[in-house]
Amino acid sequence: MSDEFFYPNIWGRSILTSAEEILGDKGVNALLNLVGLTQYIGNYPADNIKKEFPFSHVAKIQQGLWDMYGSKGARVFATRGGEQTFQHSLSKYDKVQKAAQAAMAIGSMEGRMKAGIVFFSKFFNAVSDQVVHIEEDDTHWKWIIERCPVCWERKAEEPVCHLAVGVLNAASNWASGGHKYRIQETECVAMGDPNCVIMIEKQPIS
Ligand SMILES: [Zn+2]
Repeated sequence: MSDEFFYPNIWGRSILTSAEEILGDKGVNALLNLVGLTQYIGNYPADNIKKEFPFSHVAKIQQGLWDMYGSKGARVFATRGGEQTFQHSLSKYDKVQKAAQAAMAIGSMEGRMKAGIVFFSKFFNAVSDQVVHIEEDDTHWKWIIERCPVCWERKAEEPVCHLAVGVLNAASNWASGGHKYRIQETECVAMGDPNCVIMIEKQPIS
């Protein structure tokens, strides 16, 4: 039941290789043992875009990082993992980078960012079973995840979808040509909210 929805293999692989960069292979093995995903020890998901990496495994790895390194540690891993996931997406999916650039060929930076965010929400919906839509108000874009792998079947007192925040950090940095934005998860399914909501401030901080 928990394995009905999937991420592409390459994203599962990015999550593990980015953790390995910080923890070493022994650390990743300890993590995989802790969360009961020993099938990936020395055997990371394939470097391809097949949708085979279950949401429950994404969530268990995030939970394991949280259990081993606390909320702050989990955030560091998720930021790195999100960046790698985004970079690998650009290099792995044919023509995505060009299509994104074409979509963002708009005058103002705000227009470009909005086009980029909408583009990537559609891209994520197309290549994975994650479901995202975009809303906005005067000050924020809202990345609203209706079906979220990061907190899949998790329960928490605070927002836990740091991996999604990490992906958006990397994506907004790329879309804006190097600017940084304040990006924060304000609602999370793990806390009982109906959706995971990530707020992206329209005004860059640098
Ligand atoms: Zn979530």
